[in-house]
Amino acid sequence: MGELQDFVAELLERQGAAVEKVDAGGLEVLVPQRLQETLGFAELVQLSFGANRPGHAIPIGLEGDWLDRFGALLGEHGRWAERQLTLTGAPEAPGNPERVLDRALDLPNAVWRFQGMTAAVARCLMLAFRYSVFSDEKREGLVWVGFNLSTGAVLDEVLAAMRPVLAREQWQAPDAATRLEAGPRWEPDVLQSRVRGLLERRIRLELEPFLRATRRRLERDQNRVHEYHEDLRGTSMKRLAALAGAQGEKPEADRRREQLRVSAIEREYQAKLDDLRHHYAMRVVVEWAQALELYLPVQRFDVLIRRRKGERSIRLDWHPLVRTAEPAPCDWGLGMERTRLVCDDKLHLTDRAGQAPCPSCAKAWCRACHPARCPRCGRAIKRGDGQGGRTPAI
Ligand SMILES: [Zn+2]
Ligand SMILES: [Zn+2]
Repeated sequence: MGELQDFVAELLERQGAAVEKVDAGGLEVLVPQRLQETLGFAELVQLSFGANRPGHAIPIGLEGDWLDRFGALLGEHGRWAERQLTLTGAPEAPGNPERVLDRALDLPNAVWRFQGMTAAVARCLMLAFRYSVFSDEKREGLVWVGFNLSTGAVLDEVLAAMRPVLAREQWQAPDAATRLEAGPRWEPDVLQSRVRGLLERRIRLELEPFLRATRRRLERDQNRVHEYHEDLRGTSMKRLAALAGAQGEKPEADRRREQLRVSAIEREYQAKLDDLRHHYAMRVVVEWAQALELYLPVQRFDVLIRRRKGERSIRLDWHPLVRTAEPAPCDWGLGMERTRLVCDDKLHLTDRAGQAPCPSCAKAWCRACHPARCPRCGRAIKRGDGQGGRTPAI
């Protein structure tokens, strides 16, 4: 409970309260007038975060509406921040750049050559999104997506390693020279197109176990409904079979009744299936929660990519904070994996799907060269064909 206690103490202090720690699990707070009304506190209150609560203390925990009340105090504060990390000495550089690149690059149809490495500043953007899934159960979670705005790379792996490190470092507000050196931000439409695909994929990955469990429950219920109605229908069908060939008014009336019964069972079965579909239908709401723009010291690698007779230079950053290289930039696709295929004409780097054969005419073509349709048969690219949004020209 220590983190919550620290958070509440800092938040209340920033709002003008006088806060004093009274023991391991408690705060004594002198509350200014405005906060007294918002939080429903008296002028002097004792807040308790632990299990051993003195009788007069107000228990604060994650349950109840405390987070909402404190969240209301935060408002839009803390949604966006920018920080710079300045190293005291020269930035660390990897001893064997070729080995770093060997791990970072996977180019099945091209070769690469290391050309040089320089200390630089990267402008990295980390975005947090909260998702809520509404189905027969509710799920909530937080996903982070990140980009190196200076190279265009996706920073998933680097970011995951970096988050615990970030809390330890000394940060300051970025200065003008660093901002200039790191290069500009992306245009909003570019950022949006990159974020959309990546976020969708990340949330899908995150929800996969939940989706599987929900699907299993749906199937189990569908099977139960099916078995139940199949039994009823089977009984009626047997009765109908027994009546086959029987003549006269009574058997005819029985037959008609049994046929009506079968139709009613079938209708009820369909209605039950619709109910289940409705019950298990899923709605996912995603909201942006926080953005953190970081100016980080990096080693920038210049790498030459060769494919047949063509060649092209790319840049790729090695992050000393986590001693990890980011994946290569990606001209088409999400760029989450390290594998890139290189196209013949313009040496675009794409995800595997970016050079896949056309589903209609089987010709393989580069989606970065022809983003809308197959150049041979004209089949348009559909959403879900693996596209992830374009990378800005850097
Ligand atoms: Zn291409
Ligand atoms: Zn085609």
